[in-house]
Amino acid sequence: MAGALWGSGAGASPRVEDPASARDNVKGFEYQVREIKGKTRQRMTGVSWRPGCPVHINNLRLIRTTFWDFDGHRETGSIVVHEDESGEIVRVFRSLYRHKFKIRRMQLIDRYNASDHASMNADNTSGFNCRYVAGTSNWSQHAYGRAIDLNPIENPYVTSSGHVSPPAGEPYADRSRNDKGMVHRGDHAYRAFAQEEWKWGGNWSGTKDYQHFSRNGS
Ligand SMILES: [Zn+2]
Repeated sequence: MAGALWGSGAGASPRVEDPASARDNVKGFEYQVREIKGKTRQRMTGVSWRPGCPVHINNLRLIRTTFWDFDGHRETGSIVVHEDESGEIVRVFRSLYRHKFKIRRMQLIDRYNASDHASMNADNTSGFNCRYVAGTSNWSQHAYGRAIDLNPIENPYVTSSGHVSPPAGEPYADRSRNDKGMVHRGDHAYRAFAQEEWKWGGNWSGTKDYQHFSRNGS
């Protein structure tokens, strides 16, 4: 069984297959996939999730997984995605771990009161958040648990007119840089998602969302 489970594993989703063949096994990589229950459910309800969101909380999964932080330390992070994507996303994080891709932090967005701005300003990597695409009343792919924002400062959102969000990401709008935590087309992080057929916002024409990966490409 790849990926040692923390604790008893009670509540771990029975739907999540063991995605690992021997080839996929990565020393030191651990993960756990759980239904959203108990304290996490309480914490999320009315914050990142509420009735009326386009996905029911029962269809979301909490993934806890190891990652390498910017100091090269092995850390454990939490992220919420749709249950249908949880196996894929475990494989993504396994691949990021294998290639020592650095992640600043990975905490539930509820810690930031579900504020995308606050989470981005903290350089937090996050997934599910029941919100609209900024400036619209269309659900974001994050509201379905089918999008992940990776290191938002090093991978900012840059409009075609040059506005950069978050503000601290300004230096990283220069994509000729090659700092830790940045994503470039064809690199390990890019390929970790591409292998699961997740698409990158850095490939958009016009406005670029370098932090954004999603299942359907929007
Ligand atoms: Zn995003």
